Amino acid sequence: MHLMGKLALTSIQGDILRGTERIRVIQESVIREMTRKAKKYDAINLSQGYPDYPTPESVLKEAKEAIDSGLNQYSITWGTEELRKEISEKLSSFNGLDYDPTYEVTVTCGSSESIMSTMLGLVEKGEKVLIFQPFYENYVPAVSIASAEPVFSTIGKDMSIDREDLKEKAEGGLKAILLNTPHNPTGKVFSKDDLRFLRDLCVDNEIYAITDEMYEKMIYEDKHTSLASLEGMWERTVTIGGFSKVYSVSGWRVGYSAAPKGLMKPIRKVHDYTTVCAPTPFQHGTIKALELPENFYEDMLDYYKRGRDFLYKSLKETKMDPFKPQGAYYMLADISEYGMDDIEFADYLVKEKGVAVVPGSSFYHDGGEDLVRFCFSQDIDQLKEAVERIKD
Ligand code: GLN
Repeated sequence: MHLMGKLALTSIQGDILRGTERIRVIQESVIREMTRKAKKYDAINLSQGYPDYPTPESVLKEAKEAIDSGLNQYSITWGTEELRKEISEKLSSFNGLDYDPTYEVTVTCGSSESIMSTMLGLVEKGEKVLIFQPFYENYVPAVSIASAEPVFSTIGKDMSIDREDLKEKAEGGLKAILLNTPHNPTGKVFSKDDLRFLRDLCVDNEIYAITDEMYEKMIYEDKHTSLASLEGMWERTVTIGGFSKVYSVSGWRVGYSAAPKGLMKPIRKVHDYTTVCAPTPFQHGTIKALELPENFYEDMLDYYKRGRDFLYKSLKETKMDPFKPQGAYYMLADISEYGMDDIEFADYLVKEKGVAVVPGSSFYHDGGEDLVRFCFSQDIDQLKEAVERIKD
């Protein structure tokens, strides 16, 4: 008994050591580093995706009232009952998905936590997870921290996916595909045809889907489709979303994951032991956000669309070659004409011109040195000022 205990401890220590090595090789987020540089050089921050559309007063008031009325302690670990119910209703009416709020919806500390707890909960050591590149920076560390192996498939500059490559990788053995639509940083909205193709891959090869739908309300010319709503996908998909971007409350750290009970169980365990619960007063504010009328979303979309069109047109007038996003609020631009790589270019821009952007290579496993990412979430005056500084 004593010996067994000792052996078990040795093997756990081995895991911890390997874990430490994994953490050491992961670099800090370049996106968030650019925000620190923007502060340091007093630059306009078009790097990290800070939403700027005003949060409705009623939503802020609800959170303040929650604090004032003493709702400042832990909530139920999975999220307040009321918020889970609201999320489940939103998932039904907006996404066409049916989740039981008692067992199948978990409120997390932002969608980034959902991604991490899903990886840790569902993916085993050494298993492969497909990530589309370019990718949102957090995905790769989430896979590595779960001791799994990221494999990459590239979204082309024309926003197409490489079906041959995907098929080959799926048949080679994948545990999960990590999807993000609308996509950060390209702004690609995966078409119904893309989604059907991915569905077939997942169903035929018994692959899970983890889908980050953070920007589902930010689609400029189309409507959102959740991968889990396609036949055969609900049972194998974890649908992730959040409130940071749409309601401009990224500091509240409120997101969610939704999945069939069996998949949700291990995800909840990770959530239970890592963050315990999302901030209680902000969960109350979020309930109010979910009750906002339709015109809130229309106005928000108009606001960001104006920013998109302005930035696209303005960058076209420079030596950069921007890609027009279909959704979300990021824009990649080709900078090859400038004779600098992405890191030099971003450094030059933040230090000499006072505009912070993100170097493209931070979104790629291999490549991206000819790109930078602009975030056009700031108000039009800020964008105008940034463009003037760049053109200067
Ligand atoms: N999604 C945002 C971006 O890509 C940042 C989110 C974050 O830093 N947690 O800029």
